[in-house]
Order: sequence, then structure tokens, then C-alpha cells
Amino acid sequence: MIPFDFEYYRPETATEAVTLYTDLAGRGKNARYFGGGTEIISFCRLYQLYPHAVIDIKGIPELNTFEQKNGKLFIGAAKTLSQIQESNLFPLLNYCGGRVADHTIRNKITLGGNLCAMIPYRETSLALLVSEAELVIQNRKGKKILPISEIFHESLRLEDGDLLMGVHIREECLGAPFVCLKKTSDGNVGYPQDRVGYPVVSVAAMRADNKIQAAFSGVCIFPFRSRTVEEVFNKSNLPREEKIRQAVEVIPAAIHDDMISSAGYREFVLKSMMAEILERLE
Ligand SMILES: Cc1cc2nc3c(=O)[nH]c(=O)nc-3n(C[C@H](O)[C@H](O)[C@H](O)COP(=O)(O)OP(=O)(O)OC[C@H]3O[C@@H](n4cnc5c(N)ncnc54)[C@H](O)[C@@H]3O)c2cc1C
Repeated sequence: MIPFDFEYYRPETATEAVTLYTDLAGRGKNARYFGGGTEIISFCRLYQLYPHAVIDIKGIPELNTFEQKNGKLFIGAAKTLSQIQESNLFPLLNYCGGRVADHTIRNKITLGGNLCAMIPYRETSLALLVSEAELVIQNRKGKKILPISEIFHESLRLEDGDLLMGVHIREECLGAPFVCLKKTSDGNVGYPQDRVGYPVVSVAAMRADNKIQAAFSGVCIFPFRSRTVEEVFNKSNLPREEKIRQAVEVIPAAIHDDMISSAGYREFVLKSMMAEILERLE
């Protein structure tokens, strides 16, 4: 139960949703777009979030669409992780989203909610970072389409009132060879179907344009794709062990140390995952 009252809106268009957000803000009300609600509800229960209003975006048809057009796949932000998995349109995203929480929760969690989540793992971002997806964003000024590299730095840098409508993925990335690995603290490696657990390390890597592209979650306190790590992975004539040593040295922040895993163990897992990426994609 949420221990306070709030207003609930369910607009039918994106324009209605962003206008509503602006109107509520103008009246001094703090609103939240509501996807699956898994995080909003948990945070409200814990008194960590007090929205005056939620704007449920699941009734907006455009946000509930899969569409393949002009060489790109569009996935609406209100699609749940289960729907994405069942569609099997972008296998790498299926894997990244398919190991978040358990099946029942994945029936609720939306792509937009995972990308905009306050909890830092945001594992679906890994597939989008390595495939250089474009994000479609609407606010009261209109719609914009931005490459993920421009707007995802540690988290999705949306402006107040921005609604994530969905993502575009280039068709050539949909079937590209990939490696997707996750290890949780219960010792699970690979592709757990129904295990609840935040990652010790989670990685998505893809071979595109004859190069390895890789993104990581769990390693630092934010998910990242690092061009410097990729440069090391893609050096020719460097032994695999040396690539791993150099790649770990250039990750963009300190290795995270928390109750899920010590930094030392994370580094150990990271190195073994890097070895597997190189073995399978080099
Ligand atoms: C038991 C459990 C285990 C989990 N394990 C993992 C894990 O291992 N890895 C992982 O990555 N995640 C994990 N998660 C998921 C994650 O932590 C969030 O709960 C989830 O991603 C939120 O998705 P949602 O659709 O429910 O978002 P909501 O709760 O609806 O929203 C979350 C935030 O995103 C904003 N938002 C939602 N949609 C949009 C949009 N279209 N545009 C703009 N803003 C938007 C909301 O305003 C809110 O601030 C787990 C969750 C649970 C409950």
C-alpha cells in the first residue's frame, strides 16, 4: 500500500501526457510518468518518493508499438520486458532485459522505466549502448531523436517533463553476433531465467563493423560503454591476457564495492567475462 494520496492520470496521447506534466508542474505539483510502476511503488512505500501525481503512459498507442521501418526497429517505451522477450526482434535486448528480476516482475517493468530507473543497473541500456540506438523523446516543445551516446551518461539525462517515447535500433544490429553475460551474488552466470538479483557484473558485447563493442553494468556505480576499453579489445597483435589487464585499467571509475560484492570479486568476475567476450568475438 502507498501510504499517501496522489492523483492518477491515464492520457491517450503523448502530447496529452507532456501537456499534463507541464500543467501539473505549473500548479506546483510534482508528477512522474508511470510505466510499470515497480520502482515508483517501491520507493513510495519506503517514503523515498512523494509524487503529487502519476501519469500512466501505458494507454498511449505509440509507446506500445513495435515497428520495423526505413531500416530501423522502433520499440515503444511502454513495452514490457516480457513483451520484448516474446517478440524476439532484438535478441541482445531480450537477453539484457530477460535477466532483470523474475518473470512476473518483467511482465510489469517497461523498457522506458528500466532506462529511466533510479536504481543504477539499467541493464537494458547495455544493448542500446552497444547498438548505438537512437532515443525518441517528446516534451512540450515537440519531438527529438538523439543518439544514445549524446544523452546517456551514467544515466539517461532527460530534462524535466521529457517523455521517452521509444528507441530505434538499426536493422544491421538486430542480428549481429553478441555475447551477453550476467553474474549475480547467488553464483548465477549466463542467462538466468527466473532469478531475482542485481548484477555483480553484467555485460553486453556485440561485433559490429568488424569491431567489438561492449557495455557494462554492476562494475562501477553506473552502467557504461567505454571507447577506451573497446580500443584495447580491438588492438591487433596484443595477447588476450594483456588486453584484459589494460582494459581493466581504463574502465571509467572505481570498481564498486558494496554488500552485493567486494570490488576485488567484481574485478575477478569482470576479467573472466572479458576473457569470454574476447574468445567469442575476437
Ligand atoms: C525485484 C526486482 C529486481 C530487479 N532487478 C533488476 C536487475 O537486476 N537489473 C535491472 O536493471 N533492473 C532491475 N530491476 C528493475 C529496476 O530496478 C526498476 O524497478 C524498473 O526498471 C522500473 O521499471 P518500471 O517500468 O516499473 O518503471 P516505473 O516504476 O514506472 O518508473 C521508474 C522511473 O522511470 C520514469 N519513467 C518511466 N517511464 C518513463 C518514460 N517513458 N519516460 C520518462 N520517464 C519514465 C518514472 O517517472 C520513474 O522515475 C528490478 C526490479 C525489481 C522489483
